[in-house]
Amino acid sequence: MDIEREKIEFDVLFVGGGPANLAGAIRLMQLAKEKNMTLEVALIEKGADVGSHALSGAILNPVALTELLPDYSRKECPIESTVKEDGFYFLTRKNYYRIPITPRYMHSKGFFIISLSRFTRWLGRIAEDLGVNIFPGFSGKEVLYEKDQGTITGVRTGDKGLDKDGRPKGNFEPGIDLMAKVTVFGEGARGNLMKDVSQKLNLFSGKMPQVFETGIKEVIQLPENNYFTSNNVNDIHTLGYPLGLDIPGGGFIYEIKDNKVAIGFLVGLAYQNPMLDLYDEFIRFKQHPFVADIIKNGKVLEQGARTVSSGGYFTIPKLAVDGGVFVGGCAAMQNTPGLKGIHLSMKSGMLAAEAIITALEKRDFSHKSLGIYQDLFDKSWASTEIYEARNFSQALSKKGPIKWIHIGAQYITKGRGFVDNMPIQPDFKTLKPARENDADVRPVADKKMLDGVLFVDKLTGVYLSKTMHREDQPSHIIVHDKDLCVNECFKTFKSPCTRFCPGDVYEIETDPKTSTRRLKLNPSNCLHCKTCDIKDPYENITWTCPEGGEGPGYTTL
Ligand SMILES: Cc1cc2nc3c(=O)[nH]c(=O)nc-3n(C[C@H](O)[C@H](O)[C@H](O)COP(=O)(O)OP(=O)(O)OC[C@H]3O[C@@H](n4cnc5c(N)ncnc54)[C@H](O)[C@@H]3O)c2cc1C
Repeated sequence: MDIEREKIEFDVLFVGGGPANLAGAIRLMQLAKEKNMTLEVALIEKGADVGSHALSGAILNPVALTELLPDYSRKECPIESTVKEDGFYFLTRKNYYRIPITPRYMHSKGFFIISLSRFTRWLGRIAEDLGVNIFPGFSGKEVLYEKDQGTITGVRTGDKGLDKDGRPKGNFEPGIDLMAKVTVFGEGARGNLMKDVSQKLNLFSGKMPQVFETGIKEVIQLPENNYFTSNNVNDIHTLGYPLGLDIPGGGFIYEIKDNKVAIGFLVGLAYQNPMLDLYDEFIRFKQHPFVADIIKNGKVLEQGARTVSSGGYFTIPKLAVDGGVFVGGCAAMQNTPGLKGIHLSMKSGMLAAEAIITALEKRDFSHKSLGIYQDLFDKSWASTEIYEARNFSQALSKKGPIKWIHIGAQYITKGRGFVDNMPIQPDFKTLKPARENDADVRPVADKKMLDGVLFVDKLTGVYLSKTMHREDQPSHIIVHDKDLCVNECFKTFKSPCTRFCPGDVYEIETDPKTSTRRLKLNPSNCLHCKTCDIKDPYENITWTCPEGGEGPGYTTL
């Protein structure tokens, strides 16, 4: 379709309104002010507002925040509570044991408990006050390159008002070409534009494959007299039940103000059993007596899901190319054993801003000039912190006692362990064929306990995420070969998409008369977690941005 598109020029364009880009945009404007430079800076966010697609735990290590905005408390930073005491628990089927030593990377006493939705909204307002043009409701759909195809020149936003077959409707609004001297990609884990750039410009050449975890999270309203009234431990992490010790993952429970609790469960996508259902495991976690006691008499207020890039240091891509830089989760800025990435993402954005301001002064936007960002990162505390966790996910993906031997050795040797630069498979390769004898079938959550209030089913969870997508538009989830789904994938893996998707986007329907199977897609349920793009064993699913402004409507996650 030949469309005439509006072009708007900026000095710097930030793609994504997460903590990485917002901290980057704020730092850039602070530096421009110091240097008396006038800049045209834009930030686009695919959610209807900044914060509406933000989901995290979240314990915030305030180190980057303090560097960026030392007066954050005067600026009314939305802090939900402060960690009083950490507790690390091992869960068996019925019991629990407090592990006497909390690993050092999980020490969070004095750190802040925040809602990433509320925190990013606050950062967004500060960025706007400093002069950043924030455009919520605009998704970056395509990366624009110079004719040489090696230099990034900006991003095209998605068209709005197409029908199911991609034909313009009456209210059609073509996407805009946002041109910039420097484009900053801060799309978070598994950015769709980042995926395109990395394939085109070989960003991950020589790196270990990126691996991911998927987290499902809720905010629950508790009664006035609750677990935290009489317990000092308000930062809880769990290991063991329901996954056992071979499947990577665990739970978190954080106290937040007004008698609420943030509760979530993460599963490492290196798991092998195709019958594992992420949502079911989350409910089983909540039904464990230890957890059920903490949340008793509560009511789920909001639910959502999101992936984290957890591969660590050896999966960090090239950080700068001609005309572009990569920050935050899409550049693997994550301390995986500590389950903390917000402060590292913020710091990476701030360091990128320093490099960009120098590039603007020199009027040189080549990878060499922007590459100062890489040097600044290498010398920063962020690099040191990520380096120490460099082999963690890799060890965690192993099975049996060897996993714990590796993790123990890494703990003692500050990350080196027995194999430094430990290999790992990409998550799409790890599923084993489903065994005919049902040996893979996992226990299911007690459905009788699904009361629609404290324990909600998947579809109610989707409803509580407030996700919305216009039905009459091209599906933003592209299944390249639907026959593969209903034939080979069904036979070999029993359609794992129906279990790894926490939003019930994928259904296999069987015609009772002909026994013909059909893949039914419900893209309007999508939570934008991107698990499908990562875990499908045939790489048969590509996640793209739907129309800007659609998707979840998180307010407290
Ligand atoms: C369940 C869970 C628990 C976690 N707990 C913690 C914790 O306790 N402490 C901690 O420090 N970290 C935690 N993390 C990790 C932390 O949330 C991430 O490291 C951090 O959010 C990454 O920030 P980011 O800005 O890179 O990406 P994100 O926070 O993912 O933000 C990216 C933004 O870009 C937008 N976007 C993406 N693509 C496009 C596009 N093409 N066009 C326009 N907009 C786009 C998205 O909508 C989103 O708003 C947790 C993560 C999860 C999932």
